[in-house]
Amino acid sequence: MSTKHEIKPPARVVTNEDKPFWDALDAGRFVLARCSCGAWYARSQACLTCQASAASLIWTAASGRGVVATFVVFEKAYHACFEQRLPYVVAVVELEEGPEFITNVIGCSVDEVTIGMAVDMVVIARGDQAIHQAQARL
Ligand SMILES: [Zn+2]
Repeated sequence: MSTKHEIKPPARVVTNEDKPFWDALDAGRFVLARCSCGAWYARSQACLTCQASAASLIWTAASGRGVVATFVVFEKAYHACFEQRLPYVVAVVELEEGPEFITNVIGCSVDEVTIGMAVDMVVIARGDQAIHQAQARL
């Protein structure tokens, strides 16, 4: 056990458009907003495919399956909370349903991360909130 004062992670920024996403995540579920035409979104918005209203989208459990579209390795912490995790990967993950998420890739060393690698979005606790992470599918 560390005797140092625990450094709290940075606060999440939540908008009206993505509040249902974060509320579901806090309940351990990874959801996306689905339009009746089959398009998926990471936030409440009018459908870009069929112009359905934002209010008509339904928050629905997503597969969580995706691939790493691009990534960088962070070797310097931009928040003191993350210093013990260095180095770590910050990636753009493209989900099977279409939306992209910026998240960390976990479950492998930073040297094993490649563009196109398969990942599964997982929900984990960080402080008193839930966050999403991309678990490497090795
Ligand atoms: Zn639509």
